Amino acid sequence: MEVRLTVIGSSPAWPNPGSAQSGYLVEGEGALLLDCGPGVLGRLRELGLYPGAIAITHFHLDHWGDLVSWAWLNAYGPPKHRIDCALWLPPGGKHELAEFAARWGNQDMFENAFELHEFEPGVVFHTAGFDVEACRLPHYALTSHGFRVTHDGRTLAYSGDSAPTEELAGLARGADLFLCEATLADAANDGPLRGHLSAEEALAAADGPILLTHRPIELPAPDGVPVARDGLVVEI
Ligand SMILES: [Zn+2]
Repeated sequence: MEVRLTVIGSSPAWPNPGSAQSGYLVEGEGALLLDCGPGVLGRLRELGLYPGAIAITHFHLDHWGDLVSWAWLNAYGPPKHRIDCALWLPPGGKHELAEFAARWGNQDMFENAFELHEFEPGVVFHTAGFDVEACRLPHYALTSHGFRVTHDGRTLAYSGDSAPTEELAGLARGADLFLCEATLADAANDGPLRGHLSAEEALAAADGPILLTHRPIELPAPDGVPVARDGLVVEI
C-alpha cells in the first residue's frame, strides 16, 4: 500500500494569505496528522479527512492551536460530528496541556477530548497504522521534535521546526521524502540563538527528495526545489 501525504496547512508562524498553519496528513493503512495549527481542523472537515491519531512536534501555537478548537468540537459539538482520535505529545505534554486548560477553567478538556499519550524520543511507537519515531531537535530555547513516519517500507521524515543541527541529517537519512521547514530568507534573518532554517540549510540536511514547508509565500525557493502549499498531495 502506498503512503500519501496531504498538506493541510503549510504556513509559517504567521499565516500566508488564505492558508492554514502546520498540519500534514499521512495516509497508509490509517491516517496520522502531524501537527495541528490554527486553520487545520476546518480544512480537515472541509476535505472529509479524519485522522485516527495526531502527533505534535512542540508547543508553539502554530503547531498545536487547533487542538483547542478540536476539544471544543468534541465537548459541545453535535455528538455525531465528534472526531475521536489518539493524541501523541512530547514528553511532559499532558501536564503542559492541562496547565493551559486550567487557566481557562477547563483542566480536563484535553483528556476528555482525546486519548492522550506521550512519545519518547528514539523509541518507536505505533499509531494509526504507522511506526513513528521522534527525534529531539533544538528550536530557540525550546526542545522540538522531528518525526520519521513509516508504513510498508515507505518513510516520511518531517522536521517540525528546527535550528540547523546535525540531528536533522540523521532524521532525513534514507527517507523517501523529507518534509522540511524553511522559514528564513537566510541564516542572518534568525536570532542569535538559532531556531529556524533557511532553504539552503534545509537542503544541506536532505539525503534524497525534499519538500520545503513553513515558508513565507513572499520568499522564492531555490530553482527546482518544491515548496508545500495547502492542498498539495504527494505519493511517497
Ligand atoms: Zn516553533
